[in-house]
Amino acid sequence: MNDNSLKVLFACSELTPWVKTGGLADVCGSLPQALADVGEDVRIVLPGYQSLLQHIPAPTFICIVALPLGNITLCRGNLNGIQVLLVMHESFTNRPGNPYMSDSDRPWADNAFRFALFSQAVGEIAQNRTNQDWQPDIVHCHDWQTGLVPALLSQSDSTPNTSRPATVFTIHNLAYQGNIMIDAYNKLGLPSELLVQDGLEFWNQASFIKGGIAFADKITTVSPTYADEITSKEFGCGMEGLLQHRRDRLSGILNGIDTNIWDPETDPHINTNYTFESIDNKINNKKDLQTQLKLREDPDALVLGVISRLAVQKGIDVIIDAMKQLKKENIQFAMLAAGDSELQQQLQTLAKANPENVSVAIGYDESLAHRIEAGADVFLMPSRYEPCGLNQMYSHRYGTLPLVTSVGGLADTVIDIGDDPAKANGFVIPSANSTLLHDEIMKVIELFKDKTTWRRLQHNAMQIDYSWTASADQYKKLYRQTVQGLPKQKIQLQKNLQ
Ligand code: ADP
Repeated sequence: MNDNSLKVLFACSELTPWVKTGGLADVCGSLPQALADVGEDVRIVLPGYQSLLQHIPAPTFICIVALPLGNITLCRGNLNGIQVLLVMHESFTNRPGNPYMSDSDRPWADNAFRFALFSQAVGEIAQNRTNQDWQPDIVHCHDWQTGLVPALLSQSDSTPNTSRPATVFTIHNLAYQGNIMIDAYNKLGLPSELLVQDGLEFWNQASFIKGGIAFADKITTVSPTYADEITSKEFGCGMEGLLQHRRDRLSGILNGIDTNIWDPETDPHINTNYTFESIDNKINNKKDLQTQLKLREDPDALVLGVISRLAVQKGIDVIIDAMKQLKKENIQFAMLAAGDSELQQQLQTLAKANPENVSVAIGYDESLAHRIEAGADVFLMPSRYEPCGLNQMYSHRYGTLPLVTSVGGLADTVIDIGDDPAKANGFVIPSANSTLLHDEIMKVIELFKDKTTWRRLQHNAMQIDYSWTASADQYKKLYRQTVQGLPKQKIQLQKNLQ
């Protein structure tokens, strides 16, 4: 922290290593630290889920806050030196398991209430009304769960003598919108002035994510290509018109990854650590993986790894179709996935029929994820869309070549050998299609025999710098532009902005 630091409040619904359903948690677990490292004064605010208590058994009480939707207790924890504010309410603290879903894989019926309440709490912290003597210059919100925050804060624009911080809204996945019926919105008693076409109203519903898109001072997405894509009908999920309208506020900043957690040189989950210099040792992890997953031990079999949510987005159906056509090849699938039960069943049927070549682990398993990254030769991500994607970057770090579709962050990170042989670090197909995937895997099987070329691609992959430093610098710049763009009377900063 220094005189030029901005105070940044990071509002999110997941945080690695405490609560994670996907890449959002990884970003929120890493970016605040990277921002602190480049001098920002960062605090995180998170719902106080029941599962957090195993990590923070005794959070420090700050105050009780009376919100329009009910009273919450604000507490404080700490993650690697960063203050984490916890919004405690029975709808979070008394709910076991997944933050959004019940055990039967259904969204909790009161999710709109829970995240509206959370957003109201963030709004209070943002306006320095929670007994902390700390007002952020920037509130950085993430995905639909915090979409109401910029909308609620925008109301102070028309209130004399109040100040609000600048708002940045990051879209990690536009398909998850937090849309509810108008009736439900009205029943919550949320401000009716916000429910207009230029605001939260979205095809006769109220959309939480639209609050972020319509009201934030700046909008970001997690890769430059996805920022372009979401202004089109194909990827815009109905929000493309609004995003085109707000194009001048929209930019894409590629996610980094936690290069300490995902490092083959030090990874505690794998038996044999390695670097590019000792890449020959990677084969030991392949052998371990084959043994652990009861696959046939064969160093020449091309092992294809998959770690994914089972969702249409991820092109798992495309993988299943391609697998059926590839039965005769010397390839193996090491899959770890959870989600859609239909896809799960199809995968398990394939594994049962080919136990020596197909392993399917259902569930969430951080350690196995690391072992697949280290043991596989190729990592499959034939996504239909991919805002950023993390696993292709983890794969690069482990010298496991990603085979991906040319969308979003995958297009921004993976270079196909046909496009640039000198810089190639993986394989790219134009779209999620089983014939394209099958044909590409056939090509990769051939290339795998050419060890010199394979090593070159692994070298290109492993030397990429995916640390958060570059992205944190971009956010730092964006924060300053955002604060400077606020209407003059709203600017409270006494600081010498860079
Ligand atoms: P998304 O957020 O769309 O699911 P990302 O690629 O951005 O996809 O991030 C997914 C993150 O979740 C990665 O860290 C990935 O390793 C992890 N992950 C996904 N499924 C599993 C699983 N079944 N077990 C362990 N980790 C998983």
